[in-house]
Amino acid sequence: MALKDILLLGDPLLYMKSTSLTKDESDKLPGLVALLHESMMEFRKVYHVGRAIAAPQVGVLKRVIYMHVETPRVFINPLITQVSDEMIELWDDCMCFPNLLVRVKRHQSIVVKYFDLNWEENTVSFQNDLSELFQHEYDHLDGILATQRAIDDKSFRWR
Ligand SMILES: [Zn+2]
Repeated sequence: MALKDILLLGDPLLYMKSTSLTKDESDKLPGLVALLHESMMEFRKVYHVGRAIAAPQVGVLKRVIYMHVETPRVFINPLITQVSDEMIELWDDCMCFPNLLVRVKRHQSIVVKYFDLNWEENTVSFQNDLSELFQHEYDHLDGILATQRAIDDKSFRWR
């Protein structure tokens, strides 16, 4: 488990829609979370960025997001239930294309329902940087990359 596990732009798996994780698959969670954690930490060592990762980025087509901002958090089968009308514009990046920046628009705030590792349902709201971060990861679950969210054909920049 390392940097090599993170798929790169162009890999067909990145464009596929992930399926929900069932309770029967719970036994796969510890291994998956460890893989996501290790991959992100390896990425950070090299690129000094990376705050969240989605399971499809390591080729596991399950609706699981791992976020590590101050503390580690796992979001199982998340659903964005509300979005703000207000949008924010930013240069987005992705572990699947580490040196490419893409200008995108995201909702300034969102509300998310998800299951935690104890299969308890939670609701959380995110604003600004965490809101755009979560929307980025959520897109991965639907096989959508930031490159597909580019505002126009000049919205690309090399880091
Ligand atoms: Zn990404």
